[in-house]
Amino acid sequence: MSIRIGKADDNDYVVDDPHVSRHHARITRVEDGGLLLEDLGSTNGTFVNDVQIMRKYVLPTDRIRLGDTCSLLVSEVLKSDNDYSEEFAALRDVYDDYVKAKVKIQSSNQFKIRIFQSLPFALLGVVGVVVGFFGKGNPVLFAASLIVTVCAPTIGIYLGAKQSAKIPRQLQELANRFKIDYVCPKCGTFLGEIPWESLRNRKRCPVSSCKAKWVRE
Ligand SMILES: [Zn+2]
Repeated sequence: MSIRIGKADDNDYVVDDPHVSRHHARITRVEDGGLLLEDLGSTNGTFVNDVQIMRKYVLPTDRIRLGDTCSLLVSEVLKSDNDYSEEFAALRDVYDDYVKAKVKIQSSNQFKIRIFQSLPFALLGVVGVVVGFFGKGNPVLFAASLIVTVCAPTIGIYLGAKQSAKIPRQLQELANRFKIDYVCPKCGTFLGEIPWESLRNRKRCPVSSCKAKWVRE
């Protein structure tokens, strides 16, 4: 956990004071649970009990001062922690599952379309053999085989088209669920179809008012 304090908007704790630097100080919870206050090279300095410090362990009950006038209680600053790293890590599975489901829908539909399109042609072959075998001189069988010859491709195209029309609907349902699940854990903004690894490289939510930290720093 690490909280940056300063005048700039990209801090976790934004201070509106002309004597405070853009990135003034940082409070980090170290491994043993202690709170380390560090000055980030500020112009007017960071103070604990009126003593200027560069690095000092503080308690939640301590009061710190940034520059001449800005006084803050450490416990107050701690409330602005925006660590959402655990919730963000869980989104990795959400993204992977979405991609897998999408590929599965597309490939299984392509297989069905091919089956539907080729079945009537297989039927056509059977009819052709039957007519050839029994139908010598029989006008009824000849007419029937002619009709099947004309109809089979039409039926094949129809069945194939009907199956391919199912894809957008299934994909739409999948996309709708994804839009609800693949969101910033703090502000709920949909993260788009951006791979989880790419989002992790951003480290923080791009929504400026959110300030959620996706990766622990
Ligand atoms: Zn957010």
